[in-house]
Amino acid sequence: MSLDLSWAAYRVPTDGPAGDGTFAWDATTIVVVHARAAGEVGLGWTYAPAAAGHLIGELLAPALAGASPSDVPAANEAMVRAIRNLGRAGVAATAISAVDVALWDLKARLAGVRLAKLLGVSRESVPVYASGGFTTWDDHRLESWLSENLDVGRAKIKIGESWGTREHRDRARIGLARRVLGERELYVDANGGYSAKQAIRLAGTFPDVRWFEEPVSSDDLDGLRRVRDAVDADVTAGEYGYDLPCFARLAPVVDCLQADVSRCGGITEWQRVSALAAARQLEVSGHCAPALHVDCAAATPNLRHLEYFHDHVRIEALFFDGVTPLGPGGTLTPDLTAPGHGLTFKAADAEPYRVA
Ligand SMILES: [Mg+2]
Repeated sequence: MSLDLSWAAYRVPTDGPAGDGTFAWDATTIVVVHARAAGEVGLGWTYAPAAAGHLIGELLAPALAGASPSDVPAANEAMVRAIRNLGRAGVAATAISAVDVALWDLKARLAGVRLAKLLGVSRESVPVYASGGFTTWDDHRLESWLSENLDVGRAKIKIGESWGTREHRDRARIGLARRVLGERELYVDANGGYSAKQAIRLAGTFPDVRWFEEPVSSDDLDGLRRVRDAVDADVTAGEYGYDLPCFARLAPVVDCLQADVSRCGGITEWQRVSALAAARQLEVSGHCAPALHVDCAAATPNLRHLEYFHDHVRIEALFFDGVTPLGPGGTLTPDLTAPGHGLTFKAADAEPYRVA
């Protein structure tokens, strides 16, 4: 059975200025991958520059020339070996991730089953939390976004503005969010904008915050440990985990391990990360790209939730048919009768955004 890989990159402008504590953006690039074999097509994607697509064409596709779509872990391993001299973290990991998901989808479609069923369902519905609350939004925008997402029951806003130098505004925005959310759960994400001492001091002023994501840089393992030990909120990290050893380093210093199927090495590596977390009595939470995570999340016993990220929810609705609709109480319930992950690419709708 011969395997054919193809890719394209699309750049989608944001619906306004977007920013967090340590980064600002006005567009998101998505690299879409199709894997074809025996008359079926598998679909995967990653949020990464077009360089990830070029890497697929130059290094990954040749490495998979003799691969069988039914042996995804072998294909994943072949891709990891093919990029040895390049280094895995970053672009290479995103490229591997997109192909790995496309191969899992292809395998499920060839078997005529839902991907969640192929992996093994452990939950009917997957909880999500609303994620947005950019530092670039004014109070009116933040309040209306929170109000629109009250039914989800959990919402995360960005803090740590301007590398942690606007503490007063951070606290004011947290206060606003706390008032709008009422009894619902409030999460914050500093994207590594604070120092450890600053994060601990500020957390002492937070009104009932359940989740404190990347209070310090994820490279600062000692800082994460110090904040985790000192604050009430769950300290979390993992969105820059590009391989299993990275998660092995993070797991001992966080309360919940985050992982991103579009970065960590695909569903193959997600399952290993989940097992690693389970061995430490930790839950995993999916970072961004909600439509890409639904099936592996439904197959993960120690899942906490998925991030229903503002920008990616927009793009996934625009680019894909079959996206699981947001259900009551902030849940995604995959249609187990649909083949693969249930998604198909809307090529004509995406075409105006194509950049490579
Ligand atoms: Mg984050």
